[in-house]
Formats: sequence, C-alpha cells, structure tokens
Amino acid sequence: MKYFPIFADLQRADVLVVGGGEQAAQKIRLLRKTGASITVVAQTVTHEIGGLGEHGSLWIIRRPFEARDVEGQRLVYAATGDRVLDALVSSAARRRGIPVNVVDAPELSTFITPAIVDRDPVTVAIGTEGSAPVLAREIKSKLEAWLPANLGVLARRAQALRSLVAARLADPRARRRFWERLLQGPFRRAVLAGSEAEASRIVQAELQGASPREGRVALIGCGPGDPDLLTLKALQRLQEADVLVVDRLVDPRILEYARRDAERIEVGKTPRGVSISQAEINRILVREASAGKVVARLKGGDPFIFGRAAEEMAALQAAGIPVEVVPGVTAAHACAARIGLPVTLRERVRQFSVVTGATADGEPDLDWPALAARGSAFAVYMGVGNAPLLRRNLLAAGAAGDTPVVIVENGTREDERAIATTLHDLSDCAVHFAIAGPAVIFVGLDWLDAGLARPETVTHYRRQRQGARAEASRQTAEVLS
Ligand code: SAH
Repeated sequence: MKYFPIFADLQRADVLVVGGGEQAAQKIRLLRKTGASITVVAQTVTHEIGGLGEHGSLWIIRRPFEARDVEGQRLVYAATGDRVLDALVSSAARRRGIPVNVVDAPELSTFITPAIVDRDPVTVAIGTEGSAPVLAREIKSKLEAWLPANLGVLARRAQALRSLVAARLADPRARRRFWERLLQGPFRRAVLAGSEAEASRIVQAELQGASPREGRVALIGCGPGDPDLLTLKALQRLQEADVLVVDRLVDPRILEYARRDAERIEVGKTPRGVSISQAEINRILVREASAGKVVARLKGGDPFIFGRAAEEMAALQAAGIPVEVVPGVTAAHACAARIGLPVTLRERVRQFSVVTGATADGEPDLDWPALAARGSAFAVYMGVGNAPLLRRNLLAAGAAGDTPVVIVENGTREDERAIATTLHDLSDCAVHFAIAGPAVIFVGLDWLDAGLARPETVTHYRRQRQGARAEASRQTAEVLS
C-alpha cells in the first residue's frame, strides 16, 4: 500500500486551490462539503467559482500564483491546467511540508483524492493508487446503489443516542449487542423509512430490555416488468425482506433481486383464473408481519395506481403493523416511454388522466363526455376486455372516430407489442392482434402533435373497407425486445 487512507478534519482549515477553471471547480465542490476555508488563486475563474466568491463562501485572489501563497495552508490543490505552473505550486508546497495534490499528476502530488460515496457522516473512500480509475468508478456506482440515500440520518441518530446508551448500558458487550440490534433491525428500517416516532418507540423498548416486534410491510411498486426500472429503494426493501407476497403482474426477473432464502407467497389474481380474494391477501400480510417477519408486498407498476394499496394499508394499520409505500413506475409512464409518446405537450395537451376500463361488475362508469371532449388525453388500464364498450361510449359522447389510439401490450417485457390505430378501429384492432397480455390503451395522444415521427417499432393498424383484409404495416417487428 503506497497511499495510506486517512480522513482529515478540515473544519476551519485553510485550503488553497490554485487555478480557476473546471478542474478547480470540481475540487472546490468537494471541499465545500467540509468546513474548510477555501482560497482560490487564479487570474480568471469560472462563473460558478466567481459566484461563490461573491457570496463569501470562498476567497478569490485574482493574480498569478506566488510561492508564498502556500504558507499557512493545511492542503494545497493545483488545478491550473498548466503543467509548469502546477509543478511550481507543487514544489512550493513540498518545500514547506504541506500536502499537495496536482490534478491528474500523481508524480507531482503527495496525496490523491479518492472516489467518494457520500452519506455524510458515513463516507466511503475508494482508491486504486491511480492504477484503474474505472474500477473505482464501478465500485462507487455499486455502493451508491446499495447504500440507502439517507444512511447518514441513521448514523446521526446513533450519534445523538451515544451518551444516553453509554450511561444506561455500562457493559461494553451489552452495548455492542444493543448497537447491532439497533443498526441492523427494526430501528434501522424505521429511521430509513422516515418513521421518527416509531424509531423512538423502538429505542425506548430496547433500552428497557424488551425486544420490539420486527414485523413490518413494504408495499413495493415493481414497475411494469423491466427490472432496471426498479427504484433503488424498491431494491433495498426487496433485499431486506424475509417474505415476498407477489402479484401476478410482477415480472419473474424481479424476484431474482430478492434474497435467495426469502419465502415466496404468490397471490396473483388472473383475470378469470383461480384468485385469492383481497381479504385473504390482507390476512396473509397481517399474519406474516405479526409473526415478526419483514414483508415485501410486490405489486406491478405503482402501488397507488389501480393497485388496491389502500385496502392493504388499512388492514395493516388496523393491526398496528408499520407499513411503508415505495412508489414504482406505473404502466402508462413506462409504455409511453417505450414508444416515445409524450403524455403532455406544452400548450397542446395540458391534462392527462389514467382511467380504469374494468370495475368490480365489469362495466366502467366513466365520465364519457369529459373523456370524449376535444383535446382530451388519457390512458386506459385493464381496458382490453371492454374495448368495444369504451369505443361505443366514447363515440356516443361525441369523440371523433379518427381520435388517435395506441395500444401497448406487455410493455417493457420481451413480448412487448405496440399498435397505433384510431378510436373507430379500436375493437377490431384488439381482436385482430389478439391482445391478451396486460395492455395500456392511450387515447388522444399522437406523435404528429408532438412534432415527432411514429417509431418503426409501432405497428400501424387500419381496418380495411368491406371485403379487404385488415392491413397492418409489416415493416415493423411486432415483438420488441
Ligand atoms: N399498479 C399497476 C396497475 C395495475 S392494474 C401500475 O401502476 O402499472 C393492471 C393493469 O395495468 C393492466 O390491465 C394493464 O392495463 C396495466 N399494465 C400493467 N403492466 C403492464 C405492462 N407491462 N404493459 C402494459 N400494461 C400494463
């Protein structure tokens, strides 16, 4: 190990940055996370650095570097972009025994800046001694995804409790066990989920020697299929779970991200197949969490959009079980993105709704005149089975037959299909393509309006007049990868 990692306290320390360009700005951005007093020596500075100078956040000396500038500095950075000048700065600092870093020149530096994962006060520094910066970046991005964004909040909570815990628990081993329980168990989850009151209750219980109940439920939006659309929070909750309670619409690829030993309960409801009732699902969630397990309730798309999350939350709240909702990418947004179809447009489409095409008794009772109005734009979920009814009601309420319609089936999955048609041809289209997978029907949205071309991956369907076969443009692959 040539470089020894240390964490230097820069509170109120004088730090000199020589140079005023983008490289200097990058160092300044990092240094400003500490409490250092920064001095910049440069003849010209970027707009950003100039602005910081005006606000008194750092001190700018606009003149050429002089060797005496390094005097009294705790650290010196040379980022002038001029090797000769950088070397001058370096030797001036070295002569006085002041640590110096020259950007991109380890041979002129006595220290280097690592890649940093910042969860202040938790900081991870990654260095490869300049051997493979790409490797450092890879490790950084893995850690960024893995560590919760608010991990620092947890560390600060622990900091605030330290003296209380030290006073209550004299035995160092008991103290260590206490911290392990706190920082890995329900307290950690409560703090990271933002449940302050619950976190305080857990600390009190722990200090009184009672082991608080572990059980909790996260209602996790798993998006439309593609696991890359999971949020980082969804991923974290998935990996913490002891039990997964899984909906039919959750893509099997997503389960790969859970712990191997997590128990799975499939509660998928198929449109016509055997189904587990909502009441039964609620019972399962309460039962598993009451047994002290950490439950991940995996839902397709977003839990709050046609996801019956409210019913599950109510049942859990009634049972006194903590529940957290993790949003997900909803089908309409994901499908629109796949086919490059904006759902609002400046000045043209100011309102976009999501509606359901199916209700408990099958017949959706929607505000047909509003949906049929000119300029109206919406996405229909669960609408394929009722396509003829949607078409009929919209036309009867005055919608134009040539209103653009786009159907996206199995969005973001391997068997994704997208078809553009019109309201007039909607029902024929659904039959012609035998749409059977989950599909979103967009009504009133068109690429043309947005000044865009229809992507080649979208098939065009128009019912042909009497006797002729329905024609679908063939230049496009019906199956998108
Ligand atoms: N909570 C989910 C919606 C559940 S309702 C969400 O926010 O996306 C089920 C309906 O969602 C389906 O009938 C279909 O209309 C839509 N849907 C879900 N996944 C889909 C997908 N991959 N492609 C197209 N539509 C999808």
